This record gives sequence, C-alpha cells and structure tokens, in this order.
Amino acid sequence: MIPIIAQYCMECKEWIEDSDTHKCSKDSWVLADKEMVGIADRLYSMGIVPTTAMWGATELGTAKDHEYFLTLEINLRRRINESVLDKLPEGWKFHWETVTPDQSPVKMLAYTGRWINVGLKSLDERIAELIQEFEEFLDSKDSEAIKAVLLLMP
Ligand SMILES: [Zn+2]
Repeated sequence: MIPIIAQYCMECKEWIEDSDTHKCSKDSWVLADKEMVGIADRLYSMGIVPTTAMWGATELGTAKDHEYFLTLEINLRRRINESVLDKLPEGWKFHWETVTPDQSPVKMLAYTGRWINVGLKSLDERIAELIQEFEEFLDSKDSEAIKAVLLLMP
C-alpha cells in the first residue's frame, strides 16, 4: 500500500479534480491519504478542521518487514481546546509545539507507535485497523455538541 495523497473537500466529501473550478472554500480542503479521509470527515463535522491527514510507516531494525514506527498525522487549522475529545485512545496525542530546540508551534493531532509484525496481519491491515479504531472513537462522540462548544471558544 503506497499512500496516495490528494486534495479532498470535506464539505462535499469529494476529491477535488480541478482546484481552479471547485466551488467550496479552501478552508474545507484537506491534503489527505485516501485511507485517512474518514478521520478527516469526522473531525470536520466536529469543527476540528484538518489541513492535512496522512499516515506513515518507517521500518526499524535490520530484519525486513518486521518492526515499524507508525504515524498517523493530522495537522489542524487552529489550536483547539483538547478537552473536547476527553481521553484520546492509546498512542494518540495533541502536539502544540515541536520537540526540536526551538519548540516551534504546530497544531497537530497524531498517533505514534511501534508495531512488530508477528505474521498475523500485514502492515496495510495494521494501518487500516488503527484508522478504523480512531474512526470508532470519533463516532462515539457527539459531534454537534463538540462543534457548538468549539464555536463558543475563541
Ligand atoms: Zn467542495
């Protein structure tokens, strides 16, 4: 599975074929991997607007297809009060500054974790599973209530 990254409109829930003629505001566009649009759509419906949504996998160690560092990264249009989502699933965290010495500001919601391939599922299946688990977490939330709360916050 190779990430396919393209512009997607969360307002009409369609891939943008021609950015010059697409009618919606760019505020509703996200640069996303095709596997990540379900997460982008759910966050957008809560008023947590993503600008990018991508996954990545880096092989660790020397054994081929054995150990990976997995990331699911969602850059957000603005910083939000993270308490609106309560406790995030394991491995997920909001990041508001980088870990580099200058601690430059970021607005990111991300999963990071190591995964060891013991032969029960493929890397693609593990990524799909992580995405599905986070979609289910978001589905368990009241998106209208969260959107209302976020609108009241500066
Ligand atoms: Zn649109």
